[in-house]
Amino acid sequence: PPAIGILALQGAYEAHAKILATLEVTTRLIRTPDQLFTPECHPSIDGLIIPGGESTTMLKFLERNGFLESLTTFVRTVPTFGTCAGAILLANDVQNPPQISLAALDITIERNAYGRQLHSTILTAPTKLPGAPLEMVFIRAPRITRTGPQVETLATRDDFPVLVRQGNLLAATFHPELGHDPRVHELFLQLVQNQLSVDSLRT
Ligand code: GLN
Repeated sequence: PPAIGILALQGAYEAHAKILATLEVTTRLIRTPDQLFTPECHPSIDGLIIPGGESTTMLKFLERNGFLESLTTFVRTVPTFGTCAGAILLANDVQNPPQISLAALDITIERNAYGRQLHSTILTAPTKLPGAPLEMVFIRAPRITRTGPQVETLATRDDFPVLVRQGNLLAATFHPELGHDPRVHELFLQLVQNQLSVDSLRT
């Protein structure tokens, strides 16, 4: 079974660990850059989740010990799923206010885009995932205002993308780990499995 790392510097990482446990996946909480790669520079995990929380605070932790540089390399080779603050960290272009990022996912994202009165909200809407409409929990959510040509939109809210995929990268502006529906995590595990089979073809 694949081993999935969850960046555990700050934010909603425990909820991801719980939902992955129900899917019988091995998880590892990632707190230092050396947990990403082996001494031989191979990835130590098959996939990574960057959780929701506060992206500015996460960046503060990442700016120590070369963590940001390691993670920037990592997300370019290993399937990574960013939720909310995690999506902000993956984005090429961050606004309101602008902020540095891993610049791996070709989207523009506007932080805290729904204003104070809509601090959090729960919607159920159809998506491109198989099955019923999906419950989506938004908390101080960002808004994806531009997607590059390689980016596929899998779900929207008011015509703005809320779940997107580009190659091995998946990002949600909502919190699939806070609902009871495992489909978004299952989709991510599919990306991880596909990557594993591509890797085994190479060797
Ligand atoms: N507002 C947060 C940020 O800008 C994201 C909110 C969340 O992850 N729930 O980082």
